[in-house]
Amino acid sequence: MTEWSIGKIKNIKYWTKDLFSIILNAKINNFFAGQFTKLAIEINGKKIKRAYSFINSPKNQNYEFYISNIRKGQLSPYLYNLKINDKIFISKNSSGIFILNNIKSCENLWMFSTGTGIGPYLSILQDGICFKKFSKIILVHSVRYIKDFSYLNLLKKIKQNYFNKLIIQIVLTRKININENILYGYIPDLLKNKKLEKKIGIKINTENSHVMLCGNPKMIKQTRNFLEKNRNLSQNLRNKNGNITFEKYW
Ligand SMILES: Cc1cc2nc3c(=O)[nH]c(=O)nc-3n(C[C@H](O)[C@H](O)[C@H](O)COP(=O)(O)OP(=O)(O)OC[C@H]3O[C@@H](n4cnc5c(N)ncnc54)[C@H](O)[C@@H]3O)c2cc1C
Repeated sequence: MTEWSIGKIKNIKYWTKDLFSIILNAKINNFFAGQFTKLAIEINGKKIKRAYSFINSPKNQNYEFYISNIRKGQLSPYLYNLKINDKIFISKNSSGIFILNNIKSCENLWMFSTGTGIGPYLSILQDGICFKKFSKIILVHSVRYIKDFSYLNLLKKIKQNYFNKLIIQIVLTRKININENILYGYIPDLLKNKKLEKKIGIKINTENSHVMLCGNPKMIKQTRNFLEKNRNLSQNLRNKNGNITFEKYW
């Protein structure tokens, strides 16, 4: 049974008509960067709950969530319509194993994400411990248009703080103007046609890399398939170390 706490909305950022972030304050237990919690609202007498990843560092008690407003979704449109000072249910305890404690240190940590799947990485990067554990962190974020890359400014600041340890690779699935810093297409295809690793200048192998995948289940499935078949990587399990850790959002 979920133990609920009541949170109060402190701020809401509307990035686009489909993307927004809510910041709330509540009395909840500590979490690890990369974990998620449950948010809920009572709608027509029924508590509707869904999982959302923290994007703030665990040291920051302004709990922030980056959310996609799903048309005809059961909960997200209600979250989108919340106002400052509104009350919301938040689970007292957080969950999830998409955290660095479970990952052995190695040279390169790859963070692949689609859409709001960037959330856990924002928490991990703001936490900062990852920069001690890995020599290079390569964040590969796929969105439709550049306007959908809501946290680019925050990431640029993190990159400045950690100098050249963080590489940010933007992947756009829609091509309007050509920019040579951006890759166009879908993450699994950009691995298959070698454009991604060529652009970064690093080839993923079992010795040098750990790959985290978050967001769209199709991206996760196809990327895993490629890495397992072509690079011999395997899923990281509690009882058997591997090089792939993933979190599916649906
Ligand atoms: C561990 C975990 C962490 C999650 N963290 C986040 C998060 O930080 N931010 C977030 O926006 N969502 C996150 N989700 C998804 C979230 O729990 C809800 O499924 C989502 O908000 C839709 O809920 P809904 O009731 O509005 O839609 P529903 O009526 O439940 O409809 C679900 C459908 O919406 C689509 N969908 C679900 N999530 C997304 C998404 N993020 N982007 C695009 N399409 C989606 C899928 O087609 C899915 O079948 C997470 C899910 C899991 C399992």
